[in-house]
Amino acid sequence: MREFRYERPADAASSVALLAAAPAGAFLGGGTNLVDLMKLGVATPDVLVDVRELTSREVTDSPDGGLRIGAGVPNADLAAEPRVRERFPVLSQALLAGASGQLRNRATTGGNLLQRTRCGYFTDVTRPCNKRTPGSGCGALEGVHRNHAILGQTLEGPGTCVATHPSDMAVAMVALDAVVRVLGPDGERTIPITDLHRLPGDDPSRDTTLRHGELITAIDLPALAMPSRYRKVRDRASFAFALVSVAAALKVEDGVVRDVRLALGGVAHKPWRATAAEQALRGQPATEESFAAAADAELAAATPLRDNAWKVPMARNVVVRTLLDLGEATR
Ligand SMILES: Cc1cc2nc3c(=O)[nH]c(=O)nc-3n(C[C@H](O)[C@H](O)[C@H](O)COP(=O)(O)OP(=O)(O)OC[C@H]3O[C@@H](n4cnc5c(N)ncnc54)[C@H](O)[C@@H]3O)c2cc1C
Ligand code: SF4
Repeated sequence: MREFRYERPADAASSVALLAAAPAGAFLGGGTNLVDLMKLGVATPDVLVDVRELTSREVTDSPDGGLRIGAGVPNADLAAEPRVRERFPVLSQALLAGASGQLRNRATTGGNLLQRTRCGYFTDVTRPCNKRTPGSGCGALEGVHRNHAILGQTLEGPGTCVATHPSDMAVAMVALDAVVRVLGPDGERTIPITDLHRLPGDDPSRDTTLRHGELITAIDLPALAMPSRYRKVRDRASFAFALVSVAAALKVEDGVVRDVRLALGGVAHKPWRATAAEQALRGQPATEESFAAAADAELAAATPLRDNAWKVPMARNVVVRTLLDLGEATR
């Protein structure tokens, strides 16, 4: 057994100071991902700084009609929060599509954003994996990769990684233009959520742009003035990560798309904001043909692997179906 120290500081500033002094330490939220990875020997922190009780568990209104979500808000509470259900249904639906009731009770908003990939080579310490052990290779590239990425992968060199980001909640937050508030050794800063998660580039070991010791304290959601929804395709109805998912919001006036937000899950190393599709759709008729053309514009960049080319038409179909549903809702 590998020993580690457990700390439960009184406040956020003390937790940041503790971790700054522990280069191999980690924050602990609900522990539903980190503790599993510790049991598997994938994560080996020497200090665990428990932040579940000291980050805010409140959801508060912001002056612009948006919401501030404390990093300690449990996933179940956030999904059930009436203001989220009413103003940001895409977020509530994404949360309810993830994990199980018990896990959602325990898991925190901050921890959910930072959960790690479910690539089977990453979680098996006997296999090569550039994310877990830089320079060891990527077992998935020529191995089992049915549920891996089709966009933005690194396909050669020491940075090779074709993993996907697992969080449903993060996909919805990316579509909602959320802003992540962090407290670090150098003070507070904000990060647009689209800049939080990384593509593998030449260093797949780094999932995010956070620096060591930066604590997520809250997430800000700006007001949203259009209907939204989340659709997730998975191998079974519960307890399964996305094969492909779509978070969308759509504003249609006089049959024309006035505004649209679109993000995809299960397709890349980070929640994928579909900016090419959004650009292709604005000002176009809200028809199945336009929705399909927009999806094609986004997926033109796809570089599927040997066994996951089916994700390209699946993503296209899920985008089209979701936008059609939203288009009907706004009519
Ligand atoms: C069987 C199973 C099925 C699942 N299915 C799904 C699914 O379908 N969809 C889905 O989205 N998720 C799914 N999950 C994942 C689940 O949502 C995550 O495990 C959970 O959200 C992680 O939150 P946590 O608070 O427990 O994080 P932890 O495990 O405590 O932490 C995760 C990471 O976040 C860091 N961290 C935690 N809090 C902070 C903070 N405030 N600031 C900075 N760093 C922090 C930790 O250091 C760690 O690196 C599943 C999990 C299991 C076990
Ligand atoms: S896809 Fe990424 S996480 Fe999976 S084995 Fe390759 S390097 Fe590791």
